[in-house]
Amino acid sequence: MERKRISTTELRKQNRNQVFRIIYDAEGPLTKQEIAKRLHMSLPTVTQNLKELFDENILTDAGADESTGGRKARLITLNKNVYFSVGIELSPKHIRFIAINLKAEELAYEKLEYPFSNTPEYRMVYAKKLEEFLDRFGFSRERLLGVGITMPGIINEQEGIVEIAPVLQLHHMKLSLLTEVIPYPVYVQNDASAGGVAEWWNYDGPSAMAYVFLGKGVGGALMIDGKPFEGLNRRSAEFGHMCIHPGGKLCNCGRQGCFESYCSSSVLSDDLGMDIKDFFQRLEEKDPYIMGVWNQYVSHLVTAIHNIHMVLDCEIVIGGILTPYLEDHMPMIRKKLQEKSFFPDEERYIHLGRCQGKANCIGVALHFIAEFLEQI
Ligand SMILES: [Zn+2]
Repeated sequence: MERKRISTTELRKQNRNQVFRIIYDAEGPLTKQEIAKRLHMSLPTVTQNLKELFDENILTDAGADESTGGRKARLITLNKNVYFSVGIELSPKHIRFIAINLKAEELAYEKLEYPFSNTPEYRMVYAKKLEEFLDRFGFSRERLLGVGITMPGIINEQEGIVEIAPVLQLHHMKLSLLTEVIPYPVYVQNDASAGGVAEWWNYDGPSAMAYVFLGKGVGGALMIDGKPFEGLNRRSAEFGHMCIHPGGKLCNCGRQGCFESYCSSSVLSDDLGMDIKDFFQRLEEKDPYIMGVWNQYVSHLVTAIHNIHMVLDCEIVIGGILTPYLEDHMPMIRKKLQEKSFFPDEERYIHLGRCQGKANCIGVALHFIAEFLEQI
């Protein structure tokens, strides 16, 4: 008896989730009849589930279907802004805030110049700025699913600590210090893992993907079935500290020849006393010096990407602030990758991410969106 009751409840939940998912994933609004047909579900079952989802304000009307003659069918769509989540990125010099809706679309974004410090004052600043952010954009706290915090450090959830975050000069810091200042559900995640999650959301390729982040730091995540593969000590996918030139350039980590020391975005900006936009402008103008720097950069990038691909044999998504500029250079990069490989047709595995510099923020905010979608 007990068993049967559980399975009926489970079945109901499954039906409800299926009805929701088909509307969530659909390109445009759907009619009740279309939903029943696509799911091979009875019309009364679909009607009942739609009623519940409408009552909870998760779905909304999208007018009438004009395509069919005669009686117009009601069109149903997701009420995508009914809930939202926030991502906060703490980096050495900036604090970023993003709010995203149930479809992971950006609702608001703000970047604040404020240096990181391991002090109560700093934590009060981002907590206060969060409230101001919510007020400024008129967000209702009741619709806030949660707040994600992401930072460049190794996060140990079990022990509740940030094990180490060299660029923030943190060692063994309690996560509660970061979260206790925020009066909403909070989740803390490593920045590269969060970026991987954000790019995975937009990705429709095979089940494994390496996300390579090119920013001031170079890092990434190895995504398997939508989850970052963390490794034994949560140190997986530290692509930036793969040695590509033994005895080469000094890296931030203190060793020599790391991928990061050759392919940090600083190589194309700070190190030359210009910003990224100027760099690519001058490259377009065929400035010989800039062209030389760029050719070197690409050569190192191709070496590293090729190595990653030789080990993992999976799709590779490049993310970070350089992606909008890399677009025009992809045919050349693909060609160079092909030249390196001894397998034919091996250059198609590389793609550009879509979230650019916002990936980390979006990814950590997605934690609460994914959680919400799962429990529906
Ligand atoms: Zn290094």
